[in-house]
Amino acid sequence: MTDIQTPAETPAAPVYSVAQERRIVTAIPGPKSHELQARRAKVVSAGVSSALPVYIERANGAVLVDVDGNQFIDFGAGIGVTTIGHTEASVVEAAAAQLQDVIHTLFTITPYEEYVRVAELLAERTPGTHEKRTVLVNSGAEAVENGVKIARKHTGRRAVAVLDHAYHGRTNLTMAMNYKAHPYATGFGPFAGDVYHAPSSYPYRDGLSGADAAARTIGYLEKVIGASDLACLVVEPIQGEGGFMVPADGFLPMLQAWCTEHGVVMIADEIQSGMARTGRYFASEHFGWTPDLVLSAKGIAGGLPLAGVTGRAEIMDSAHAGGLGGTFGGNPVACAAAIAVFESIEANDLLAEATRIGRTLTAGLERLKARYDVIGEIRGIGAMVAIELVQPGTGSTTKVPNPEAVSALVAHAAQQGVLLLSAGTFGNVLRFLPSLAVSDALIEDALHVLDDGFAALG
Ligand SMILES: *Cc1c(COP(=O)(O)O)cnc(C)c1O
Repeated sequence: MTDIQTPAETPAAPVYSVAQERRIVTAIPGPKSHELQARRAKVVSAGVSSALPVYIERANGAVLVDVDGNQFIDFGAGIGVTTIGHTEASVVEAAAAQLQDVIHTLFTITPYEEYVRVAELLAERTPGTHEKRTVLVNSGAEAVENGVKIARKHTGRRAVAVLDHAYHGRTNLTMAMNYKAHPYATGFGPFAGDVYHAPSSYPYRDGLSGADAAARTIGYLEKVIGASDLACLVVEPIQGEGGFMVPADGFLPMLQAWCTEHGVVMIADEIQSGMARTGRYFASEHFGWTPDLVLSAKGIAGGLPLAGVTGRAEIMDSAHAGGLGGTFGGNPVACAAAIAVFESIEANDLLAEATRIGRTLTAGLERLKARYDVIGEIRGIGAMVAIELVQPGTGSTTKVPNPEAVSALVAHAAQQGVLLLSAGTFGNVLRFLPSLAVSDALIEDALHVLDDGFAALG
């Protein structure tokens, strides 16, 4: 890894334009949010829902401000998008400057340097020192689609394998790749074929070692598909929507070794787990996994829409000229923001911040777990932490999912100015995906709110 910026001295503490504190001054949602909700209902499709319908007017660091003047500590970060902080100064500056210079040309008509620079940064920061190529697109699902396209072209094979509890997006192909039909796919078929769902590693519920879980997955791939028909295996190193499952040690490298042996392209969907979220640039690194292709999106451009597929040159270059692209893919403003994100991660040592956040959060959640037996497991790495909630008294036996407790806690926290997200195949996971700007003091404050919420569960 080469330094892109070596600060001469320790960077000054960031200055925030919004006080980093929660503040509730109306009912939640407040009157102005209610008015906007009424306008929205007349013009926005009912298919687009909002977890917490407070309308946000301003955001900075780890705090959201709504139209009624309420402030929320944001443990969602737009689902892990504003990883380096809301309206982070260097992102704002880089994007604003780019808006003055060039907003759009379309890279496939007349190219520009920012796209090339993002590809260089991704080549240097994704796992492995092999030669790499990148294509930039607009969204995570589009990155998944392109990864699959490229793998099929490279291998000349048809089948796509994913893991149980996976989430890969909302386009036609990715709906077929998700584990959960509802709400993502219900009624939206017919779906893409040749997609196979193989067993995953979910240590809390399957109790398997990495080697045993990998053997089970490989057994499925060999019997149900057959290696000679399999183009790619797409895997989230830490599953996101599924509930932050951290696979057992050895699981991912064993799958990669099997894929390499059989000419299958193994693709890391790092859309939620990547870009410094876990204290490394990409979560794959924690597991000693060097994927063939890596998908990035969410946190890559500080909140602007950008995504990419990065991987082995011989695989990426098997796509013919003109085969990849799209009108907005690799937009110059989004690319300028992404360059600022990489620079900020390195100048402000945000990998260490992610680790710091994980330590504080996990310690606090351990204290809660000792007192509330609905917490079945605490898991995650860095600033990607979750708790899985079970029915009281079942934590060490049947582990009966407790989605009601998750809903109650999310609602309680929102009323107190803490924005939390649920997750999980069974809807029984509370996830913490804060921006890396969140201080230990804000985390402790949110943990107190959560403590009251657990006490109120009775
Ligand atoms: C969010 C997400 C996607 C889809 O990304 P979009 O930008 O919403 O299309 C795919 N995979 C994972 C792991 C995600 O978290």
